[in-house]
Amino acid sequence: MRVGGLQRWTSIDFPGRLAAVVFCQGCPWRCSYCHNPELLDASAQPQIAWEEVLDFLRGRCGLLDGVVFSGGEPLLQTALPAAMQEVRALGFEVGLHTSGMYPDRLAQVLPLVDWIGLDIKAPWQRLDTVTASRGGAARVLESLLRVLLSGVAHECRTTWSPELFPLHELHDLAEELAGLGVRRWALQQCRGGSLPDPARWRAELALFAARFEDFEFRAA
Ligand code: SF4
Repeated sequence: MRVGGLQRWTSIDFPGRLAAVVFCQGCPWRCSYCHNPELLDASAQPQIAWEEVLDFLRGRCGLLDGVVFSGGEPLLQTALPAAMQEVRALGFEVGLHTSGMYPDRLAQVLPLVDWIGLDIKAPWQRLDTVTASRGGAARVLESLLRVLLSGVAHECRTTWSPELFPLHELHDLAEELAGLGVRRWALQQCRGGSLPDPARWRAELALFAARFEDFEFRAA
């Protein structure tokens, strides 16, 4: 594994669990709002050796519940399934943050994962623009369907500001996700982006919340 960083403790990245976060190096997409640009270059020198991560985890058995593989895009790395197996063998639950760009690799690790945070970055027709890439929409949809069929606990999340795409398209996306069977959706305000005025935004959030069993808005 090429590891770009290790967060030794978090209570918010793996719902209901105390976890460490392994930031995986490399991502082929280039979202304008990416918070971890230093993780994008897949050829960058790892910041910490995988064996060091395992040593750290061995010392946290019984203290942490789980390990989240985040990024970057963890599924870029073909070593991920083996790394997940090593983590499970130490007794930890496994979480995965992914943008859904590798549905076949995602299917491969589904049996090894206890919870998935799946980014749905934009309505399908906007995905290439938001991610500065090509052909992602079909792959993300396939990943979403695989997650839904798998029964693995998950959350879908979308980062939004009106500068990324219009509000009515965000509603269309919410309607589509709910129609596909998504039950938990988190809407995240894009850092540096605007929002509609507060009164209107409260009304919009109520509309989103009505579509899902579980809805959360995360302000930037
Ligand atoms: S998919 Fe994630 S890691 Fe990759 S560019 Fe977009 S925000 Fe950054």
